[in-house]
Amino acid sequence: MLFKLSDTVDQLPLVGGVKAKQLEKLGINTIKDLLFHIPFRYKDTSNIISIPQIKLEREGTVLATIKAIQNIYTRSRKVLTKAMIEDEMSEIETVWFNQPYLTKSLKVGDRYLFEGRLNPKQTRPQLVSPTYEKYYDGLLSQKHVGRITPFYPETANLTSKWLRNRIDYLFQNTDLTLEEPLPQNISQDSKLIPVSEAINLIHNPKSLEDITQARARLGFDEMLALALQIESQVQAQEGKKANIIDIDFDTLFEFISSLPYTLTDDQVHAIKDILQDLSKPNPMRRLLNGDVGSGKTVVAAAVMYGINKRGYPSILMAPTSILARQHFKTITELLSGLDIDIQLCTSLEKIEQRKKPQIIIGTHALLYQAELPDNIGLVVVDEQHRFGVNQRKELLERDTNSLIPHYLSMTATPIPRTLTNILFGDMSVSFIHELPKNRIPVKTFYVPYEKRESCYSWLKERIIKSGYKEQAFIIFPLVDESELVEAKSAKKEFETLTSTVLKDMKVALLHGQMKEKEKDEILKDFKAGKYSILIATPVVEVGIDIPNATIMVIENSERFGLAQLHQFRGRVGRNDMESYCYVLAGEQVEQDSETIQRLQYFSEHNSGFDVAEYDLQKRGPGEVFGVKQSGIPQFKIASITDIKLLLKCREVAKKLINSGYNTEEISDKLFR
Ligand code: ADP
Ligand code: MG
Repeated sequence: MLFKLSDTVDQLPLVGGVKAKQLEKLGINTIKDLLFHIPFRYKDTSNIISIPQIKLEREGTVLATIKAIQNIYTRSRKVLTKAMIEDEMSEIETVWFNQPYLTKSLKVGDRYLFEGRLNPKQTRPQLVSPTYEKYYDGLLSQKHVGRITPFYPETANLTSKWLRNRIDYLFQNTDLTLEEPLPQNISQDSKLIPVSEAINLIHNPKSLEDITQARARLGFDEMLALALQIESQVQAQEGKKANIIDIDFDTLFEFISSLPYTLTDDQVHAIKDILQDLSKPNPMRRLLNGDVGSGKTVVAAAVMYGINKRGYPSILMAPTSILARQHFKTITELLSGLDIDIQLCTSLEKIEQRKKPQIIIGTHALLYQAELPDNIGLVVVDEQHRFGVNQRKELLERDTNSLIPHYLSMTATPIPRTLTNILFGDMSVSFIHELPKNRIPVKTFYVPYEKRESCYSWLKERIIKSGYKEQAFIIFPLVDESELVEAKSAKKEFETLTSTVLKDMKVALLHGQMKEKEKDEILKDFKAGKYSILIATPVVEVGIDIPNATIMVIENSERFGLAQLHQFRGRVGRNDMESYCYVLAGEQVEQDSETIQRLQYFSEHNSGFDVAEYDLQKRGPGEVFGVKQSGIPQFKIASITDIKLLLKCREVAKKLINSGYNTEEISDKLFR
């Protein structure tokens, strides 16, 4: 064995500092990384046809001898390399552009494989820029032409051809037998080939069947690594203890009947799911998964009320102080008259110890409070994917006695079932699909760039007609102008709009660079109706509640994932007034492009679950959350939406754990 898998790539011949840097861009640092660089497509160029045949079919692979080759310099200083090539039956002219060195590397009299297409413009048959490779007897050693050729993810100056040469060099010069991570009975049951063979076949397939088998094995490994993580979390959880909190649904009657509305069936189901979990001796881990405005807060409030009645404190944590304050206000109102002690805790408000169990609502400032009560019954985290895993752990495991609080997470983004399985596999999920009955769907329109002006005139008129009661948001993707991105900025457009079409309107500006206090102030004034229009960057994404806001305009909406657009849309239509959402496209967005199809889909679908699923299928999970989230596994082969594979791998993971295998060791050896 010449190389070890852990060796850095610069140990390889022809890989110097420059190439190593380029490889690093592809995430390749070691020999193992290079071996695990997976082709994203293949082209079968192994079917050799004759020159008369290629003249008919106009593309394909021929085996031919070079009869003559020369460079021709054109008047525009371009170089054409022209060759005449022949097989037993015929000959054909071949041409390459700006590669004068070809006259040195291609030798007259030698046999090569040429693969490519005929020039469609020439009346005389001419093979244009074919790929070529010297012919070795029997096709056995062909790397680039005359085989099922792999194509790899590339970067500037690192071509698939170059990668093929280096990977082939490895296979020729090193014993690449990888240790098999799976016990034999498991790979047999699942009809999987050994990982070593799979890696060989993925780079050197002899048939399409080889590729299928290799991908099945490697995709399995990726998913199994994730499944092992999920199952070991589940098992760790089973070992932990929590307070058994028995709450009968009927004891919530006083609270539920005090509400000004009837709960939806989904809300009732969610509450019942949670109560059931709380009555068990191990900590609940549940995700409350519902659309914007589906009424998750009242579900949390009902449960916290019940827990309070049973004598336990509980905590609700929000990602920003704006949201924490809003939750505090909402829940204080919801529980008014029910004799519950509620405290707010942000960086400005500290907690006081009380005798009675309280409901504490705050930001992550909570974590740094010495005065948190003992024996917390429940922790609710709103919009959990904004918090780091460690912060959550800290809050859940801070208790000195061995009991862990029950844990409820509420999402800001409705997460399609496919993704909850993958991302929250160790949690139970309650879905709220149904919106409250009084909800009027927000009318959504896609607005091409040319209609931008009239959109603003309409907006202005609408506000004036309502006697300045109705309010509007205008969202811009950027705070400042940028040379790198073609998108409008909030600051610049605030200047432009308030001096043109929105002159005489009361307009405020809100962006992420402002101080927390300043932002709170502006939002308070906007809510109080001091402004008609709020121009903002995506900071308003986070659930602020402005009841009179009926219009949402999103500029350069092509820059956002649909789930994020849906978040913006959720800022309006929060009461019984007719509401509107306008998604504007940037100037450079082309007619009939996929981008416009996406925006059109958005304008026709009101369910957050639908739009998130659409983006998940079309553009991957990063889009569902707006940004690439660290928690989302980046598979090279397996599909993140392949639930069947996930379920199978979870079974296998369970088996491995229960049979006492060292799963960490297995994980280390899995392909991923
Ligand atoms: P989200 O799930 O986005 O957190 P909220 O809890 O903020 O949603 O609820 C949105 C609005 O809907 C609130 O004003 C709330 O009072 C109201 N609401 C909640 N449940 C119902 C219901 N069953 N019927 C009518 N209105 C409801
Ligand atoms: Mg909410």
